[in-house]
Parts: sequence; structure tokens; C-alpha cells
Amino acid sequence: MRTLLLVAAMFISFASIAQKVEPAKPAAQKAEPSKEDLAKMKPEMTEFWDPEITVVTPGQLPSDAPSDAIVLFDGTPESFNANWTNAKGEPSGWTVADNCVTVAKGAGGIKSKMEMMDFQLHIEWRTPAEVKGESQGRGNSGIFLQGRYELQVLDNYQNRTYRNGQAGSIYKQYAPLVNVCKKPGEWQVYDVIYTAPRFKEDGTVFSPARVTVLQNGVLVQNNISLFGHTEYIGIPKYVAHGAGALELQDHGNPVSYRNIWVRKL
Ligand code: MG
Repeated sequence: MRTLLLVAAMFISFASIAQKVEPAKPAAQKAEPSKEDLAKMKPEMTEFWDPEITVVTPGQLPSDAPSDAIVLFDGTPESFNANWTNAKGEPSGWTVADNCVTVAKGAGGIKSKMEMMDFQLHIEWRTPAEVKGESQGRGNSGIFLQGRYELQVLDNYQNRTYRNGQAGSIYKQYAPLVNVCKKPGEWQVYDVIYTAPRFKEDGTVFSPARVTVLQNGVLVQNNISLFGHTEYIGIPKYVAHGAGALELQDHGNPVSYRNIWVRKL
């Protein structure tokens, strides 16, 4: 019986950690449960009720913001102006019309006023229907996670470029698993799960940033560990930081965005 209680305590301890509850004190000694002890276990011994799971009301469609999301852009100028600025913290000059916002050439990138650590992001983007340019010059923009790590936005529908620089890549670090781009002028979706890097007191990396990305519902990045800040030239490296904004890139092409929401994790 003592061993049985010990086994139950081990289960409870494990479950407590998994649920972010104060773990029980570690068992004084570990023992493999015997077949006899396992046979005496009841289903209830491994069923955990508290704390109850938080209720979130989903949107009508998976693309709709759920009840606990922070909407960063709902298609209106009011929403855009309330949540976004240029790099200097001033109004950006990007164009809001037809329920979306479009890069204004030469206006520079924009950033969210809100800064975040770990998050789930939903964002929809569209490259120009009128195809101009090739390789990196066609429908280029980008989503900088915490303002540092670029998830590339590019028109790669029948448009070759270097594999680690195409749509769905973490620019110059990880190529996407597949090319699932829609045609130019069609709306596309990124759903992103992002875990911010953590740093030690001396500024070195404790744990790297991790990213999972679905493009149009298809997995293109699977829990990858980033090597550092996005670099156009050179090797990525980390510089310690805390919470960061979401930034959208002006690469000179009129790429549009809409329906941007995040859930802080
Ligand atoms: Mg880019």
C-alpha cells in the first residue's frame, strides 16, 4: 500500500508541475510500482480537476479573433492609428482602405505600440495582383517578431528565390518546409506561435527564440530555434532584450495586411 501511495504521489507531483501549480514535495524515495500496486490503482487517481481550464470563446471562423485576443488591426483607420506607428513612434503614413492597410512606399516600416514576449499571432497578407519584379523584388515585406526576427512575406507563386529567403522562411535562417503560396492578389494567412528568447544576467542566451508557423493552414516552420537577430549581411547573433513590438516591413512593394490579432501566452 505504501508503494501505491508513493506512485500516486509521483503522478500528482508530475501533474502539478504540468498545470503550473506548486509541486508537491519530492518523494523521499523512488520505487518502481509493482504489477500488484498498479492493479490496485483507480482511474480517479490520475484525474486532475483543479485549476479549471480557462474558458475562451472562439470566433465564428478560425480566422476570427477569439475572446481573449488583442486585436491590433480590425480594418478601420481608428484601429490602425490606435495600435501602430512608424519607427519613430509617429503616424506611419501607410494607407488604410478597403478593410486593409498597405505599405506606402518610402514611409518605412511600422511597429505595434504593444510590446510582447510569448504570443500566438494571426495575420493576413496580400502581395500585389499586378506582378512586378522577380525573386526578392516581388511583393516583399516581412513580419518582424519582437522587432528582430523576420518572418518573410514575399510573392513566391512561380517566383524562385533563395530557399531561405522565400515566403514562410525565417529570413536567412530557416527555409519553409513547403511553398504553399497563393496567387498574387489573393489573401494569405500566417498563424504563428512564438516563444521569446530568454537571457542570463550576463546577456548570453539561456534559451533561444522558438517559432512555429502555419501558412494558409499548412505547417511551414515546426518549432524551430532561431540563431539570433535577422541579418541581411552576416551571421545572426543574439543581443539580449525583453518584450518587443511586432513590426511590418516596407520593402518598397505595396503589400497589404488585415485582420491582425494576438494572444499573449
Ligand atoms: Mg522581407
